[in-house]
Amino acid sequence: MSITKIHARQIFDSRGRFRAAVPSGASTGIHEAVELRDGTKSEYVGKGVLKAVTNVNEKIAPALIESGIKVTAQKDIDDFLIKLDGTPNKGLLGANAILGVSIAAAVAGAAEKDVPLYQHLAELAGVKPPYVLPVPAFNVINGGSHAGNKLAFQEFMLLPTGATSFTEALKIGTETYHTLKKVINAKYGIDATNVGDEGGFAPNVSGAVESLDLLVEAIKKAGYEGKIQIALDVASSEFYKEGKYDLNFKDPNSDPSKYLSGKELADFYVSLIKKYPIVSVEDPFDQDDWEAWTHFTKESGIQIVGDDLTVTNPLRIKTAIEKKACNGLLLKVNQIGTVSESIQAAQLSQSDGWGVMVSHRSGETENTFIADLSVALGVGQIKTGAPARSERVAKYNQLLRIEEEIGANVEYAGGRGLSAGLTPPALISK
Ligand code: PEP
Ligand code: MG
Repeated sequence: MSITKIHARQIFDSRGRFRAAVPSGASTGIHEAVELRDGTKSEYVGKGVLKAVTNVNEKIAPALIESGIKVTAQKDIDDFLIKLDGTPNKGLLGANAILGVSIAAAVAGAAEKDVPLYQHLAELAGVKPPYVLPVPAFNVINGGSHAGNKLAFQEFMLLPTGATSFTEALKIGTETYHTLKKVINAKYGIDATNVGDEGGFAPNVSGAVESLDLLVEAIKKAGYEGKIQIALDVASSEFYKEGKYDLNFKDPNSDPSKYLSGKELADFYVSLIKKYPIVSVEDPFDQDDWEAWTHFTKESGIQIVGDDLTVTNPLRIKTAIEKKACNGLLLKVNQIGTVSESIQAAQLSQSDGWGVMVSHRSGETENTFIADLSVALGVGQIKTGAPARSERVAKYNQLLRIEEEIGANVEYAGGRGLSAGLTPPALISK
């Protein structure tokens, strides 16, 4: 069946900001596709998306309906949308407008075939069962641009790679999250257990070492030592200044003589990787500091994930492959703007042996598309915040449903999805 009706409306994300059918970042990369905002300061503090909504209702809808493309033909729909926009960064219609339609088409395509969304997406991607449920990366301490504390690094994540199923991974993550709350409360008081944008705690710790010590203590106290590994998202483009890194960037009186060079920052990461069970580091360097990336990816021996560096864009991923700049992709559908290009980005990365972590945005909605996408692509990793705040938990709950629905033939990725020569626990089948 071809498409007969498309309708967009403006709704609100988890920060009370506004989007069409898609999430929205805070620590956005400069190379991301364009998120069209109205910019009318007197309304919705300039963050309205009514122009994007109008683009869907008045430009995309009539053209796509007129085209007669079948709703199950996702690639044709996405190619049509890309052509209709005609710019390299989806700046004419807005990646938020385009992605809303692209995702809606995928959901409608699954309904037309009368199959679950993950199955439809897997068929589009050419991924065959058995389906693999991803390791969740629970972001339990929030810093950087996601929290009102002094912490520079943006995300401290728990990865229950030693669980035997997604259901168990969620149990482990949730119990450790609540143990961490107690640990933080005992050390810093109740104020320190307020949460940041992604549901993790945002205590006013001095830096990464203190945060990692908190995680290690919580993991031990929760009884999960050896079952949980740690991932970081440094989101360092947020504090790259004059070719250096300012770990005190949230202090307006930060002292430039204390900024770190790329080499000094890399040495700091290496010291952390030696001391803590860290298996993945995202955006360790600025989005255009290619040399520092290449050097560190080789030196670290763990998964190094590009987010702002690669922006889910096949062209940037190709460059990163050529430069050996990283060995992992953070897959954010709204960075590129269509479902088909997201699939292409994942597969291009996997073709070079990278790990792939499907990801939410810090400004999220209750939509659970990425949960299905992570299963469909079989990539083995997803990050969608702490096991708290409904816009985060909605995705984890959807993965519980999928695991239950698939039943006996489901697999849990464990550490298998992580790249770069880790020795993960064996793939566990139920
Ligand atoms: C991230 O940097 O990985 C992230 C999820 O944050 P944001 O959506 O703010 O870019
Ligand atoms: Mg990131």
